[in-house]
Amino acid sequence: MAMATPYTRFQTTLRDVFVKLDLTKEEQALFAEPQEIHRTDISFQRDDGSTATFPAFRVQYNNARGPYKGGIRYHPLADEDEVKALAALMSIKTAVVNIPFGGAKGGVQCNPKELSKKELQEVSRAYMRAMVEHVGADIDCPAPDVNTNPAIMAWMRDEYEKQTRSYSPAVITGKPLSYGGSLGRDTATARGGFFILQEMMDRRAMDPEELKVVIQGFGNAGAHMAHFLHGAGYTVVAVSDSQGGIYSEEGIDPVRIEKYKRKTGQVAGEYCTGSVCDTERMKLDGVRHVSNEELLELPCDILIPAALDTVINEGNAERIQAKFILELANGPTTPEADAILQKKGVEIIPDVLANAGGVTVSYFEWTQGRSGEQWTEDQVDRELKRVILEGYKAVRREARRNEMTYRQAAFSVGVKRMLDAMKVRGWI
Ligand code: NAD
Repeated sequence: MAMATPYTRFQTTLRDVFVKLDLTKEEQALFAEPQEIHRTDISFQRDDGSTATFPAFRVQYNNARGPYKGGIRYHPLADEDEVKALAALMSIKTAVVNIPFGGAKGGVQCNPKELSKKELQEVSRAYMRAMVEHVGADIDCPAPDVNTNPAIMAWMRDEYEKQTRSYSPAVITGKPLSYGGSLGRDTATARGGFFILQEMMDRRAMDPEELKVVIQGFGNAGAHMAHFLHGAGYTVVAVSDSQGGIYSEEGIDPVRIEKYKRKTGQVAGEYCTGSVCDTERMKLDGVRHVSNEELLELPCDILIPAALDTVINEGNAERIQAKFILELANGPTTPEADAILQKKGVEIIPDVLANAGGVTVSYFEWTQGRSGEQWTEDQVDRELKRVILEGYKAVRREARRNEMTYRQAAFSVGVKRMLDAMKVRGWI
């Protein structure tokens, strides 16, 4: 059997839903491949004067429901297949929360940790120059993803405006507040996931004070989530970053973790330098160091993967103890693990719904960029709650009516909405 890739994993889930929806071959064909794939090598000048080149991609999967939309990832493993899968997931996601966009994704295959700030700016401007004719407020609006941030979005907007001699605040989202950004964009992904989780626990009359949560990843999505949950009374028992994690049955304080992460660069920084930890002090404080693999299998009620893809797979799904999984990361669960967890009765809130808060507030930023309005943070949060819970309700309804998992139901809602738009537009 050929090795599974991010895009074949996406297709596996899609096929499952095609069968349930009884789509014709002609309808299925509309989802087979992205509409456009732009690949190029971008060259830039390094600080030592030499020239370096990185492969770069922009994949535009589907724009039936509106302009393409999706983040740009800087990562050594960002290749065409991964970017394709992320662009496809994005198209489903915008449809699930019913915002007027299609789906796309960008990637630069590089290790940004090895680049100086100046080199990072050079790469970002080179990327925008390479893609300038494919993007635009009405065409395709990029945003941040793994290892890209508001500063990078600002350089890209500036480069776009220079190249096109235009004023284009809506060409890109996730910008700094001082340059067309929206209040609430930085916390949006976590807040959207938090709204869904709260709604689910409320409906089941579950008390946050009695719920233990494990979070993998302490970046934009994971760290904000830890703060929201801790603030609402949940017990966050473990968090991690790329260097491993920290676990305490009694719960940990994300504010303290954040402080040490900032100071030492790792979540376990209060006790550890790299992998060397002061075990005596840890014992006294009732905490211990855990690897990222161990972290996923800890006893807890809610598991939140917020870092990498495929971390929950055939190899560990059987040992997962959580009753709920909220996928803040994109693609953290493989289809094989999905099937195992379904048998175990674990409820999974899939990425295309759980982390849709980010693109939803990006939509609000785009709206503000086009209208010149500035929303308050309250307004952003209120609208985010409305949009994401509408999406959640649509998925829940679909799951109940058709005896589907939440992932199948979310894909089903997304596929139907995309298909509807394609039919109305006469593509089929
Ligand atoms: P980020 O770069 O801010 O944070 C990533 C975190 O993961 C960091 O704490 C890093 O240390 C940790 N990490 C890296 N390698 C790890 C490993 N091997 N094991 C455990 N942790 C590891 O990225 P982010 O924006 O928080 O994105 C995280 C995930 O959420 C990605 O899958 C991304 O696609 C998804 N997502 C993010 C947003 C958003 O708005 N930020 C929106 C939707 C989806």
